[in-house]
Amino acid sequence: MGKNIIAGNWKMYKTNPQAVSLVRQLKRRLEKKPANKTMVIVCPPFTAISRVKDELKGSKIAVGAQNISWEEEGAYTGQVSAQMVKSAGAKYVIIGHSERRRYFKEDEKLINRKIKLALKNKLKVIHCVGETLEERKQNLTQDIIANQLEWDLKGVKASELKNIIIAYEPVWAIGTGKTATPSQAQEVHAFLRTLLDVFYTEGTGKKMSVLYGGSVKPANAERLLSQPDIDGALVGGACLAANVFMKIISASEKVGK
Ligand code: PEP
Repeated sequence: MGKNIIAGNWKMYKTNPQAVSLVRQLKRRLEKKPANKTMVIVCPPFTAISRVKDELKGSKIAVGAQNISWEEEGAYTGQVSAQMVKSAGAKYVIIGHSERRRYFKEDEKLINRKIKLALKNKLKVIHCVGETLEERKQNLTQDIIANQLEWDLKGVKASELKNIIIAYEPVWAIGTGKTATPSQAQEVHAFLRTLLDVFYTEGTGKKMSVLYGGSVKPANAERLLSQPDIDGALVGGACLAANVFMKIISASEKVGK
């Protein structure tokens, strides 16, 4: 753990001119009001990674991809590899996002392959886990999280964990406007750290960054980020306008860590 991390997942939004305009505004705002306690990451669509990276020259904002293929290379029409996003300028990649688990039927085995491939290609991983509303209602939150963490990270060495950021994203809170309460999020974050201690060694959980994601907005960011086990946020909808995203970054600066 070090600085708070505020990462923006742009999903399937922003053409290249829109992407450039967004990062230009963000860069300008961060020049005026530097984020000293917060690491900012933007994850544009594949098509804009290279352009965004160029635009961010001289800035501390890092760039991430939203996905990579499970294969190194090959005849896989439409797929984009770890090496490709790396060469386009991505330093991070989001893996295990619930939208990919749900719409693209990505299971733990596939996510595990992608995580290993990302690490092999020196990409840092933002690894998402989270339960659905049904699972929460049935009191299965901890089982689901434990299962995802165990199988997604199968065979990942303790020495590689420094290149992994965990994001707890309750599926029912993503894009719905419903946020986990700070105490609901805190509870799962603390549980995630305990799991990391169990799967690896005592003290592992404390060393890792665990972000919260799910309808983080300027209005709720400070309360969420104040929780002791929340090290930042993975932001969807609220990262698409520079002034709104900037308010979340400012909340992180205010809370510090
Ligand atoms: C996300 O896509 O990771 C996310 C958290 O989205 P939103 O902030 O829109 O809920």
